[in-house]
Amino acid sequence: MSAFSEVRRAEVVTRAGHRCEYCHLPARGQVATFPIDHITPRSVGGTNELSNLALTCPHCNAHKWTAAAGIDPETGDTVSLFNPRCDNWDEHFAWSADRPGELVGRTGTGRATIASLSVNAADMIALRLLLAEVALFPEVRG
Ligand SMILES: [Zn+2]
Repeated sequence: MSAFSEVRRAEVVTRAGHRCEYCHLPARGQVATFPIDHITPRSVGGTNELSNLALTCPHCNAHKWTAAAGIDPETGDTVSLFNPRCDNWDEHFAWSADRPGELVGRTGTGRATIASLSVNAADMIALRLLLAEVALFPEVRG
């Protein structure tokens, strides 16, 4: 049984533009239903309110688990992970200009999120490039 009503789930999916709010993988064309992430994990008091929910792809969801902070690989500092409800994606992330399909962190939060969620795993880059080739991931240039 789902923890969310169909109405609540539809609100989260629509607000997210039908894509993972971390790596922007489109939900369209995917076999698996995208899970809903509790940005602040329920184990530390996170609620089921819309302000605490984000649409994630199964990959990001499995890697984020209950983390809310991660290590910036550039500085070694522990920083907050990207929060889709209060952070601007474009401020923290950009698509690499010279490594097709790879996401680059512009900030400590961006870099820590990419590392913690293993956003640039080889399989995810391959999937992005494949989806870009069939015009299902227009943000990514192959
Ligand atoms: Zn994702």
